[in-house]
Amino acid sequence: MATDGPVLDVVTESLVELYERLGALDDGAVADYIPQLALADPDTFGLSLVSMDGHRYQAGDAEMPFTVQSVSKPFVYALVLSEFGLEEVTRWVGTEPSGEGYNAISLEPDTGRPDNAMINAGAIATTALVPGATCEERFERILDCLSRFAGRGLDVDEAVHRSEAETGDRNRALAYLMSSAGALPGAPSVVDTYFRQCAVRVTTGDLAVMAATLANGGVNPVTGETVVSETVACQVLAVMASCGMYDASGAWLLRVGLPAKSGVSGGLIAVSPARFGVAVHSPPLDASGTPVRGVAALRELSERFGLHMMRHPTRSAPTVTEADRGVRQGLVAAQGALDFTAAERLLHGLSDVTPQDGGWVVLDLLDVTTMDTSGATMVATALARLEEEGHRVAVVVEPRATAGAALTPWRRFPSREEAVDWCENGSAGVGGTGRT
Ligand code: GLU
Repeated sequence: MATDGPVLDVVTESLVELYERLGALDDGAVADYIPQLALADPDTFGLSLVSMDGHRYQAGDAEMPFTVQSVSKPFVYALVLSEFGLEEVTRWVGTEPSGEGYNAISLEPDTGRPDNAMINAGAIATTALVPGATCEERFERILDCLSRFAGRGLDVDEAVHRSEAETGDRNRALAYLMSSAGALPGAPSVVDTYFRQCAVRVTTGDLAVMAATLANGGVNPVTGETVVSETVACQVLAVMASCGMYDASGAWLLRVGLPAKSGVSGGLIAVSPARFGVAVHSPPLDASGTPVRGVAALRELSERFGLHMMRHPTRSAPTVTEADRGVRQGLVAAQGALDFTAAERLLHGLSDVTPQDGGWVVLDLLDVTTMDTSGATMVATALARLEEEGHRVAVVVEPRATAGAALTPWRRFPSREEAVDWCENGSAGVGGTGRT
């Protein structure tokens, strides 16, 4: 159960309710093309959600281990993206949905390049890109990466690995096809590393932490470790959104609206960026290879909590908290996180208070918590414009706040009084490099 007091635990209650109700669904069939997977209990059903504060919620069999299978693909993709960057990785693995099943021969006719990293062919090429002098070294990199995403040391289910290695001719064939076209960045024997990667053992709780790490811009919200950069997390989520659910990706995006990835052992993760990661495990799969109860649970969660990523986002508080206009002076105070939208509001506030000719403008950012690159660029451009037009500009900001760093060209003050004093009297004030 969640770490929070049970009385307020609406999230766990929702998961428990879904567990009890959707547990009755008995459509779908357990995958049996890997013989060992056919032994899975079809009644197993676990749900888990991890928030950006690292709070964990779960219901059902969320602690039961199973093999990660294709849910490993986005995380190994993240590993090679971190290592080589998008341009190089995209030379080997495309970024287009294949519109075909997980094990289809979705290779570009002229180059043999697989369509994307979420299907088997693309995942085998991705695994081949993982650096390492030997298979062991390469696999250690993969296991270490998956473990960092999960926030604990993971291991391999050797029986499932053997079972897939004994029967995985189709994947071997994919590797040989790519190799013959010069499209595999390694030897076809890399397919065994891919089988080991698929046989890494996780719980539903682990998968939720892994998904939450992607939701949190690459920082594991439980351990605090930066596993991959925000850019890589964003790239992985984009490919999950368009390709993560194989040939059912379009319908999934429409109805659930969250980047996701499923696997043949019944695991399913979905990511609500900046909100949480969620995972469901239930072995019976539908015709497109997706876990029946997982799809039902995610559809309901998305609807109930309004999570569709195309929904109109709500803003909790106004950006501009104060706007005063005098004959010779203007003042604007802002609060919260300054992203594009907040900065756009702030700029409106600034132009509303700016005096006609000359005079001064004070921008009070003491209550601004963060400023992203687009917000900082917009504010910096606006301040430069005000100066060009002959206004004296002062910024009020905590001396150590990161929000102020982008605004170093302007006179910065730790309090509004000092900023106003400098504007009116030209006195030195405290801090800031000053342009005037
Ligand atoms: N190990 C499985 C395979 O390559 C993974 C497929 C999946 O989970 O969708 O066939």
